Amino acid sequence: MVVSVFTHPDCLRHDPGADHPETPARLRAILDRLQTQSGVELREAAAAPREPLRTVHPESYLSSLEAMSARGGGVLFLDTILNRYSWPAVLGGIGSALAAVDHALAGKGHSFAAIRPPGHHALAARGMGFCLVSNAVIAARHAQAAGRERVLIVDWDVHHGNGTQALVEADPSVRYVSLHQYPWYPGTGAAGERGVGNIFNVPRGPGHPPDLYVRDLWDAIVAATTQWLPEIILVSAGFDAMAGDPLGGFTLEPEHFTILTERLRERMPEVPIVGLLEGGYRPPRLAEGVAAHVVALH
Ligand SMILES: [Zn+2]
Repeated sequence: MVVSVFTHPDCLRHDPGADHPETPARLRAILDRLQTQSGVELREAAAAPREPLRTVHPESYLSSLEAMSARGGGVLFLDTILNRYSWPAVLGGIGSALAAVDHALAGKGHSFAAIRPPGHHALAARGMGFCLVSNAVIAARHAQAAGRERVLIVDWDVHHGNGTQALVEADPSVRYVSLHQYPWYPGTGAAGERGVGNIFNVPRGPGHPPDLYVRDLWDAIVAATTQWLPEIILVSAGFDAMAGDPLGGFTLEPEHFTILTERLRERMPEVPIVGLLEGGYRPPRLAEGVAAHVVALH
């Protein structure tokens, strides 16, 4: 089956500045790479309306993002920076994420959203760490509105998704499994943070052999899905867990994303999987990691 990858042109126009690691070149490298990949179809999604964002974020916060972007941009918080295309990129990114969810829920195959800015550090009313809105939790709420109550979010970005955790930790209908470097940015993600029993953190130090990270993440996925079968799996697919990434010290290679993606499919063969791009800061390596994950969704 051809894997559909959804994106939006405004995701290439959001730009936090010349020296910022979250550069448009990341997404450009991914799209160039996937363009030449057989079995993959790139599709342009429509920008999202505002309503789905309001399932997670207060209107006051969304208005402030929109206004700052309309003024030409600015610094929202530390290294969370907007330009005039940031708000359109948010709507294009969410439009792509929701199109990917709709596609997968319609039985048309697993899918991927190649989007930026990333989302897993965004809190309800505050952007953080290159993230403006919670792409994964907005996608989860969209799937739930479509009748898929139980949502599993697997986050293999090298950083802990503090925003995702904060937004779902009181909600047993969503289970969140995160492998991340620890202690490291953003400081959260200890194993003892369990929410209402729905949070499964796998904090690990840098520099271990890649098989250790794969094994420990997989064990947590098994724990989270024992006698609890999700109705959709969202992957917060960050590729800064790869060896050589400037923002992390993990050692994964593209083949490890193939293994993890195939294992998800084998363990839960009826459950649609939607990958959502998070981090990954060496564009050529990022593109190879994404390609490995996407091809394994075939
Ligand atoms: Zn990251």
